[in-house]
Amino acid sequence: MIKDAAAVILLKQNTDTTDPEVYWVKRSDKLAFLGGFHAFPGGQIDEADAEVEVKNAVNPETAVMICGAARELFEELGVLLVHGGELLTKGQRLSLLDDLESKRMTWPRLLSHYELHLDANDFTFVGRWVTPPFSPRRFDTWFFLVRCPAKQEPSVVPGELESGEWITARQAVEKWVNSEVTAVPPTLHALKTLAGGLTPDLVDRFLDTPQARGETVRRIEFRGNYICFPVRSPTRPPATHTNCYLVYTSDEILVFDPGSPYEDEQLALATMIDQLCEEGRTVREIILTHLHPDHVGGVNALRSHLHASVRVAAHAKTAEALNEVQVDRLIEDDEFIELSGEPPIKLRALHTPGHARGHLCFHDAKRGILLTGDNIVGLGSVLIDPPEGNMVDYLASLDRMRSIPNLTILFGGHGAAVAAPYRKIDDYINHRMEREAKILEAYQSGVKEPAEIVSIVYTDVSPKAYGMAERAVIAHLEKLRVEGRLS
Ligand SMILES: [Zn+2]
Repeated sequence: MIKDAAAVILLKQNTDTTDPEVYWVKRSDKLAFLGGFHAFPGGQIDEADAEVEVKNAVNPETAVMICGAARELFEELGVLLVHGGELLTKGQRLSLLDDLESKRMTWPRLLSHYELHLDANDFTFVGRWVTPPFSPRRFDTWFFLVRCPAKQEPSVVPGELESGEWITARQAVEKWVNSEVTAVPPTLHALKTLAGGLTPDLVDRFLDTPQARGETVRRIEFRGNYICFPVRSPTRPPATHTNCYLVYTSDEILVFDPGSPYEDEQLALATMIDQLCEEGRTVREIILTHLHPDHVGGVNALRSHLHASVRVAAHAKTAEALNEVQVDRLIEDDEFIELSGEPPIKLRALHTPGHARGHLCFHDAKRGILLTGDNIVGLGSVLIDPPEGNMVDYLASLDRMRSIPNLTILFGGHGAAVAAPYRKIDDYINHRMEREAKILEAYQSGVKEPAEIVSIVYTDVSPKAYGMAERAVIAHLEKLRVEGRLS
């Protein structure tokens, strides 16, 4: 289900119109949805947002969105954009905020109690963007451009946000280009648009893309030069898409995991690649992280679209297991792949078996990026299904990934990017170890059948996942046996 949300792009008072300053925030690492990302303040619409009258609103729907945007702006940054509140001191505003946070007063009640009102003219609509379907949490977010009221200074209210700062739009874009920050497409689009200056056609430029009018975003560039292109695939729920990645320089493109067997999706991907090629690039190689059908399902179609001249590369263990797809080049552990052109991009391949025997991850040390394939995913859980899957190998691979210094982001095979890499890897390791301890306990108490162990240990998962859980139990038992711990 897609939920309504509103976000505020806050401009500094009297900012330089050629390169305006905007307030962006860093979301807490702990958030399940886009933790560690840079974004604009905002959030989901409350039911009560419909109870407020907004002056000059063009229609009731817009009024609700503006009301939600104003509330989020106040809740997250302490900025109160209302009429009738000009004489409130900073202390009074803080006490109002406390009323709201402590739920002593609802937002509509607070506004009416202090005789404050919202005016639509303070909120310039600059687009609505829908979260792509690869995320389990999806929002239809309305963006509003707002000028910070005089004598108010935003500051992040601790909780969902880790920090916030004024930054010029151009500096912000530069940080993204340099892979110092992670952002979703609407954030990036807003920053790039503002970097063009506060021109008379500013709003038109904001809206001059179909994605700003609710059309599905396909090209997702969480970091510069790394396009995440989710394609619909026959993968395991809750995921519905596999992330194909296009890593590009001025000259070359690497395509990772074109996984969709569906023609419409293959065409969408081919169109994206054609567009990058029209800008003077060539496809250097198609690379496979591993053999699963939802990661290789579109290889042949893409190859024939590119007139078969392009090579497919994978680990030897992947190559030997694939029948339908021909692998032309083998990638070994620790091998470097260096793209030509600008900016320099160099990836190191890591053989990281566990989910699959020939599983590869790819590390860009300069940017702290790790392409994790299905070893770590942004959505759902990782299946370890013996004999292809192996729990000893999998945990060793997670440890190896954990030991890579200065990681800033994980690009997984499904779901959004993970901008808090070590927290995520630790979660994965701890989760497996906790399960294993319980499996061992059950086994030692005399329950030896995997299916029975599942019903004791996996009390937190839906019966639908029991089949997968049973495979994991078998993998854990095998690991315990190899380690000599099953007596
Ligand atoms: Zn897989």
